[in-house]
Amino acid sequence: KKKVPDNYSKEAVPSYDWFQTDGSITVVIYTKQKDMNSELVIADLQERKLRGELIVKDYSYLLHLELSYAVHEDMIVQVSEKVGKVEFVLKKKEILSWKKLGQPLESHNSFVKRTERGLYYRKCRLLSKTNVSHDTQLFCLALPLGTHLLVPVGHHVYLRQTITGTEIVKPYTPVPSFLVSTFKNPCHDDQLHIFFIIKIYPSGLFTPVLDALQIGEYISVSNPEGNFMKSQMEDVEDLFLLAGGTGFTPMVKLLSYALTSSNSLRAVKFMFFNKTEDDILWRNQLEQLALNDARFEVQFVLSEPKKGWKGKEGKISSTLLSQFVKRSKCDSKVLICICGPPPFTEQGIQFLQDLGYSSKEIHCFTA
Ligand code: FAD
Ligand code: NAD
Repeated sequence: KKKVPDNYSKEAVPSYDWFQTDGSITVVIYTKQKDMNSELVIADLQERKLRGELIVKDYSYLLHLELSYAVHEDMIVQVSEKVGKVEFVLKKKEILSWKKLGQPLESHNSFVKRTERGLYYRKCRLLSKTNVSHDTQLFCLALPLGTHLLVPVGHHVYLRQTITGTEIVKPYTPVPSFLVSTFKNPCHDDQLHIFFIIKIYPSGLFTPVLDALQIGEYISVSNPEGNFMKSQMEDVEDLFLLAGGTGFTPMVKLLSYALTSSNSLRAVKFMFFNKTEDDILWRNQLEQLALNDARFEVQFVLSEPKKGWKGKEGKISSTLLSQFVKRSKCDSKVLICICGPPPFTEQGIQFLQDLGYSSKEIHCFTA
């Protein structure tokens, strides 16, 4: 019997049904939710195990079954956004009539608070590693064929690996494989691959293990999490991005999203803080983007510049921010996103508050 959250009526809880043809099985989930989208469906088909998790506001609905018979590895996930219907189309390996869809597995057909649902991991194969800078690499992982996983803007996943008998888990923010489409990327941006820009710390706990991961080896990747909501971008006219080092990663998808999906946006200004010129990630792509799109401007600030640097110098400060974070109109709607080493982010938020920006106008990315 399905457990229903206290403040939910039984009728509003998602339910599922299934039907078949000679060659296929279709599992239909009725979310009873009008604004469903592909990013809210995370599905994994491994052998005969089907796990489909649907995010419905603050809740998670889980379909978790051991299927009656074998199906092909790839499945089709279809989302009817307006009616809130989600379909998993599975291909039968043998043409026979199924009497039952399958046996329930742990927490099948349950509807619980998102926070109560544990993170689910699937193993992904490392396809390529490309240098982005002297200590930072672009990792391309292949999602299993039976996995449907899209990471929303401003969200991250966890990478998990067992290191000398201990499970280590760290958060990373997926990026598109390029910012500007003229850039030659190693793999294509599609739903089969997931890309990360990761800095290797030689004395770190986890990143040396990632560095040692060989092409063809596997690492576990979790479902997405995050505190950014696309609604924060609604009607925004001025978007300011402040990043320190790899704090750049959540800005990449946000930049693409803002420049392609917003009708209200007038300006996107990015201030990128690094130690030296060699540490600047995707500098060429950022400069190219600024040339391609008049709304976008990028400024690099170095804390340990080498001789000859003509750009801005120093660390995050009230002076730098007061010159940079300026509304393009006196009443324009502003969003300021900040991410970097914790002291950088904390100081940045303090300076912005001192400059009169409200907490609603400031977003910091956290785990
Ligand atoms: P750690 O063992 O954590 O060490 C990191 C550095 O600190 C090393 O130089 C180490 O020597 C030093 N150090 C460790 N302990 C101490 C100490 N006690 N005193 C002084 N120094 C110390 N990183 C990315 O590269 N890309 C991303 O996309 C990304 N996304 C993230 C998203 C979120 C939401 C968050 C919270 C973090 C993200 N990170 C990202 C950071 C990432 O999660 C790891 O923290 C990072 O990779 C370092 O992991 P590590 O185990 O190798 O290093
Ligand atoms: P880094 O040490 O190379 O520093 C980059 C710049 O940040 C410096 O040039 C400086 O301007 C500023 N900075 C560094 N330490 C500072 C301090 N104590 N006070 C003020 N400013 C400071 O940076 P890195 O090694 O690339 O580290 C990036 C950090 O971003 C990591 O801590 C990582 O965990 C974090 N991160 C967070 C997320 C997230 O979503 N929350 C995503 C990616 C990275």
